[in-house]
Amino acid sequence: MDTYVKASLLPGASKASQLRTRTVRAMKIPVWEETLTYHGFTHQDAARKTLRLCVCEDPWLRRRRRAPPLGELRVPLRKLVPNQARSFDICLEKWRLTKRSKSLDTARGMSLYQEEVETEVAGEERGRVLLSLCYSSQRGGLLVGVLRCAHLAPMDANGYSDPFVRLFLHPNTGKKSKFKTSVRRKTLNPEFNEEFFYSGPREELAQKTLLVSVWDYDLGTADDFIGGVQLGSHASGECLRHWLECLGHSDHRLELWHLLDSRPVQLSD
Ligand code: CA
Repeated sequence: MDTYVKASLLPGASKASQLRTRTVRAMKIPVWEETLTYHGFTHQDAARKTLRLCVCEDPWLRRRRRAPPLGELRVPLRKLVPNQARSFDICLEKWRLTKRSKSLDTARGMSLYQEEVETEVAGEERGRVLLSLCYSSQRGGLLVGVLRCAHLAPMDANGYSDPFVRLFLHPNTGKKSKFKTSVRRKTLNPEFNEEFFYSGPREELAQKTLLVSVWDYDLGTADDFIGGVQLGSHASGECLRHWLECLGHSDHRLELWHLLDSRPVQLSD
């Protein structure tokens, strides 16, 4: 049998958190020896999420029809201790059918476990973005790194998005204020690692607002807005902390994850 293992985090849009191993061919006792990494994983995730691992037969290599997974196991992640590896030796359970929630837009491929739909999920349904900020005294300006996004909402019928990120520094004072990353095709966990530069004195930049928005590229039609976040002295929480720590000091680089908001990015006074 040709088999691979598919991982997802529940509750939540299962495609957004889906990772998989490579396929091991023609083995009765497959050995994968692979590490799958969830970027942007927080203590809150650990407290309330369950890792589901499904062992699946790869239908494509032998041109078969897609079959249900051979079995699955579920690990509540609150059982883990930070920085401590744990091994599990568990029999696979029969695969459980996922039920779709009627209240959600199923056309977008959001498959949620009905019994686990919680209001908390709503706050995270658009995904998150990892940004780095640093005021460079040598170059005389702010370096904004768009590193990656995680668990983005699927906007295309295939259950994925083609994400890219736009930056806008407000108010615009004649210098270049808009930037965008390249498009990553068919993924909900894109890696960008792109850096952009806003020149100007630190005190002046500290008064401005950085608008970050994530979009799904669509060929021939308008791009879909996935979510956005605002950093600046008028922001709150982690967005404010990130801005103050990096614009309050020179040459202090900080990377932070920010949750994306589904509301269109608007300037707050
Ligand atoms: Ca698209």
